[in-house]
Amino acid sequence: MIIVLKPNTTEEGIQRVVKRIKELGLDAMVSRGMMRTIIGVIGEEDRIRIQPLEAIPGVEHVMPVLAPYKMASREFQPEDTVVRVGQAEFGGAGVSVIAGPCAVESRDQLFAIAEAVSKGGAVALRGGAFKPRTSPYSFQGLGEEGLNYLKECRERFGLPIVTEVVDTRHVEMVARYADVLQIGARNMQNFSLITEAGRTGKPILLKRGMSATVKDLLMSAEYILTQGNSNVILCERGIKTFEDGTRNTVDISAIPALRLASHLPVIVDPSHGTGRRELIAPLARAAVAAGANGIMVEVHHCPEKALCDGPQALLPTDFAEMMDEVTIIAEAMGKTVSRMPKTGRKETASR
Ligand code: PEP
Ligand code: MN
Repeated sequence: MIIVLKPNTTEEGIQRVVKRIKELGLDAMVSRGMMRTIIGVIGEEDRIRIQPLEAIPGVEHVMPVLAPYKMASREFQPEDTVVRVGQAEFGGAGVSVIAGPCAVESRDQLFAIAEAVSKGGAVALRGGAFKPRTSPYSFQGLGEEGLNYLKECRERFGLPIVTEVVDTRHVEMVARYADVLQIGARNMQNFSLITEAGRTGKPILLKRGMSATVKDLLMSAEYILTQGNSNVILCERGIKTFEDGTRNTVDISAIPALRLASHLPVIVDPSHGTGRRELIAPLARAAVAAGANGIMVEVHHCPEKALCDGPQALLPTDFAEMMDEVTIIAEAMGKTVSRMPKTGRKETASR
C-alpha cells in the first residue's frame, strides 16, 4: 500500500503519518519526490484499513500497490532512481559501462586490464575475487588477495570497483573493499545473502537468475530495498532457454519491461548473456537501444590464458570499438555515454 501525501506537506505532517503506521505495527518507507512525498507501507497490510489513514491531515489518498514488489515499483516511486558509485552514475541521463576481467587472476593481469578499460571509457572496474564456479575443480578466485588488487587498481586508475560476494560469511569483508557488491545469477534468490549485502548500505548489482522471471528479479530487489538500501542496479544477463547456440538468451524485452515496472536502473551483461565474443557488441548496442542504463562486459588482454570465461572476453581493442558503437546508439536515443576523465571527475560527454 502506498500513501500519497498532499503537495507541500510539512516534515511534521510526514512524521505524523509515519508514527501512525508504526503504531499499527507496520513499517513506513518515505520517498521524497520532486512533486510529492509518497509513503510505502511495509508489512502485513491487512492490519490497516484505508479509511482512517485517509483521514490523517496531509494524506491525499491511499492506494493498494498491485505489484507484489512495492518499493521497487514505479507506483511507489515514479522518478528514476540514480545509483551513484563514486563519480559514476547509473540511472541518470547517461549510459555507464562497467568492464574488467571475469576473475582477478594476478596483480599484473588486473592492472593491464584496468588500464585498458580505463582508457577505453569504463566508469567502473569489475573483477571477481570469489567466483561461483559450476565445477569445484575450477579456479575459485584469489579471495582477499584479489580484493587487495582491486583496491590498488581503484587507487591507481580512479575507477570504483564492482565485485561479487558469494557467501554471507564474506559480506562484511567484501564490503570493506568494494564500491558495488555484485550478487550473481546463482545467488539472486539466496535471500539471506542478499539481505546481508543490502544491510551494508553499499550499492548492489543484482543479476537476474538464469531461470528467474522479471517479477522474481524485482522481488529479490525488494529484499534489498526493505533493508533501507535503495541503491540497487538490476542486471539482465541472459536466461536459460532451449537455444544452445549461445550460452544464455539475452532477454531484450526485460529491459523495457523492468524500466516500466520499476524505477531502478537496468544494465545488461552481454558477455554472460551470449558467451561469445563476437556477439557482445551487437547485444550491447541492442541493450542501449532498448533503454538500458548501462552495460557490463568482460575484457581480458590475453583471453586464451584467462582462468575463467576467456571465450566471452573482449580484447581491449574490441572494447574500444564497442564503446564507439554504443556511443552512436546512445546519441541516437538522446543519451550520452558517461566517461571518467583523468581528473577523476565524471563528465557525461558526447563523442
Ligand atoms: C559474473 O558476472 O562474474 C558472473 C559470474 O555472472 P553471472 O552471475 O551472471 O553468471
Ligand atoms: Mn564470467
